[in-house]
Amino acid sequence: MKAVTEGSGGRIANAIIIPMIAVVVLAVACVFGLMIWSSHTSDKSAVSSQQTLLDGAITLKLDQMARQQVGTVVWDQAYFKSANPVLNQPWLFSNVGRWLDDTYGFSRAILISRESKPAFSYDANLVRNWDSPELMNQLEHSVARVRAKYITSFKRTPSGLFRFTADHQTEGRALSENGLVAIDGQIYFFSAAAITQEVHTIAAVRRPPAVLISFQPMNEEALAKIARISGLSQLHYTNAPSDDSAIANIVLKSPKGNTIGYLEWRANRPGTEMLGQVTPVLLILALAIVGLTIGVMDFTRQTTKKLASSQAEAIHTARHDSLSGLPNRSQFSQLLQEALKLPQSETDGSAVVYIDLDRFKDINDTLGHAAGDEVIRAVAARLQAVIPDNGVIARISGDEFAMLLTHCDGQDWVEHILSRIQDQLVRPIRIENNELFVSLSMGAAMAPRDGIDSGELLRKADIALYDAKGNGRGRWSFFDPSMQEHVLAQDKMSRELRRAIDEDALEIAYQPQCDAKANRIVAIEALARWTHPDIGPISPASFIPLAEDTGLINDLGLWVLRRACRDAHRWPDLVVSVNVSPTQFKHPRFVEKVLETLEDFHLPPGRLEIEVTENVFASQHKTILTSMKRLKDLGVKVALDDFGSGYSSLSYLRRFPFDTLKIDRDFISNLDQSQEALAILTTIIHLGKALGMTTVAEGIETREQIAFLSENGCNRMQGYLISRPLGDAALEAFLEDHAMDIAMKLADKTVANAMGELRTAKA
Ligand code: C2E
Ligand code: CA
Ligand code: CA
Repeated sequence: MKAVTEGSGGRIANAIIIPMIAVVVLAVACVFGLMIWSSHTSDKSAVSSQQTLLDGAITLKLDQMARQQVGTVVWDQAYFKSANPVLNQPWLFSNVGRWLDDTYGFSRAILISRESKPAFSYDANLVRNWDSPELMNQLEHSVARVRAKYITSFKRTPSGLFRFTADHQTEGRALSENGLVAIDGQIYFFSAAAITQEVHTIAAVRRPPAVLISFQPMNEEALAKIARISGLSQLHYTNAPSDDSAIANIVLKSPKGNTIGYLEWRANRPGTEMLGQVTPVLLILALAIVGLTIGVMDFTRQTTKKLASSQAEAIHTARHDSLSGLPNRSQFSQLLQEALKLPQSETDGSAVVYIDLDRFKDINDTLGHAAGDEVIRAVAARLQAVIPDNGVIARISGDEFAMLLTHCDGQDWVEHILSRIQDQLVRPIRIENNELFVSLSMGAAMAPRDGIDSGELLRKADIALYDAKGNGRGRWSFFDPSMQEHVLAQDKMSRELRRAIDEDALEIAYQPQCDAKANRIVAIEALARWTHPDIGPISPASFIPLAEDTGLINDLGLWVLRRACRDAHRWPDLVVSVNVSPTQFKHPRFVEKVLETLEDFHLPPGRLEIEVTENVFASQHKTILTSMKRLKDLGVKVALDDFGSGYSSLSYLRRFPFDTLKIDRDFISNLDQSQEALAILTTIIHLGKALGMTTVAEGIETREQIAFLSENGCNRMQGYLISRPLGDAALEAFLEDHAMDIAMKLADKTVANAMGELRTAKA
């Protein structure tokens, strides 16, 4: 069962932990994913803004070129010189090519004539034929646009003439197009501008202009300048882009849109940089989270484990008896119910056995509760040692155990188990220095024979136990329907006894007690009598225990006490002895009741004697002692009845101030048979005498007994030999008629003869 609950504890832990791990892993993954994504995004946007900056710097450079060209292309001299069908090459060389080269570093130039033909070219190093048709082809588009711009700048006036409207001065730049081209593997900035007159002109016809194209190499110096403006590092040109993801580039395109190369630089990647800085921190954080999660997981696992085990413990405690460790009553009935769910048959049935420790209360009271607990533990262990695997032993109350046997192969099989249990208790139980002999009474009921309902089986086992105890302890009974009849009969009887008490239908028989020395009746013992209307006289040996069991004893005892006190007035010289059961004596108002009764009937307390058996000391020593002392103080006499019959402990005699010691009838009846009985009897009489108690011998049936007892100093005699218990009228007659007779009998010579015989026998 423990393993099961621990397993379920593990399941609970997993149910919490697995989703927790999933959430943590997901959260960490999300954070990392988000970081990487945002670093990429920010890198991308950084690169794109660097590209924009670079583009801007290039545009700026080209724009600057266009402005620098203005002085040359918006110039009447240049205009007229370039309009001339035959170009003045030296003039162009020095005033345009060389001048722009010297002034602005435009190391190359081409002049496209009005007829759209390359008409002049300049190279700082005097290289020839660099103005290849391919280059022209590349530039063709830009040149065309410049020419178109120029043409469209002439607006028709109302007079039909054309006025040139472009304003170089305010715009600060020529009518130009610019861009990049590659010449022999070198990238050049170029600006193509229309050559125009300095002042606004009016023309009759619109004619295309000559176009001057200036080139400036994108060399180290130029790149350094651009890099400075755009704030980029390691800017350089390449014709094949790098694979390195840390390198960003822009594509350089010719005016026709052909890729002519790339500008590369070490990209500024703030996202990656941030990721680089944050990743270690994040890793530490993630590790911390993982550590924490593991810690929490472990804690959770431990806690749930503890919870489960304490739950299991609580369940175990709830289902078990703490003293013996055996299952308790509720667990037993649950197990029984479960067992009875299985099909039951004569050869494969179940048995319920109630097991009761005989006289356990006495052990508890004489040796103390600790010893009682030891006995319970020892008995529990011995029971467990013999029950088969398919059996369960439970402790269901103080001294009661219950056994469940399943898969029973008939009553013989169960009886075999029961005999083994009895065998276990043949060995005494050692407690400290005492050896205790314990016996068990057992009552069994079997399914399906006696029923298949757990309540019914338990009830029947209880009836069987009752039967076992009733027939003498230390044995077992199997339930039999007649037992039930017996129980029902008992029930009926107790109701009838109740009625008899209520209706004053009981009677009292008085048995005289004779003083051994004075030979006269000094006391009478009141004995309850019940004559059942149908059955006839019923023995007190049956109805007194019945009254004890059903709680009627208090009323019955009180009835006897009152009747005896009432009758006592008829025999003013006699002490009336009344039997009081332990239950009655323990009643908190018992002494008050006695007092009330004495007052009600004006009886001097000294004329009442209360007889108790030693069972009265089975518990509550202190209150018993108090009640007893109060009775004594009142003057009521107290007698210890049936002395020597039970667990007689001499210590009672020392601790409680009895007036009278009534020796049990068994000692008297055994007198003739054993030397031992003689020895014990004389000891008891001497003991009583030593303690200052009056000794009474009861059950005297023979003269031999009476002779022996009086010789040994016993004070009072009671028994059939003197008189049977008598009704009040008969008692009166007996006292009157036979008082003298008794005296005579006691003095009779036959007694002396008997004594002589007894002595010879002893010798
Ligand atoms: P007990 O107190 O020991 O009473 C003596 C019993 O011995 C009486 O039995 C009496 O009839 C019987 N007896 C007297 N002399 C002889 C004899 O020579 N030989 C034999 N064989 N027996 C003799 P009884 O009246 O049947 O009472 C049985 C028990 O019932 C009493 O034992 C007493 O314990 C109980 N009892 C009787 N009346 C009352 C009562 O009013 N209250 C209580 N609590 N118990 C009572
Ligand atoms: Ca008695
Ligand atoms: Ca007695």
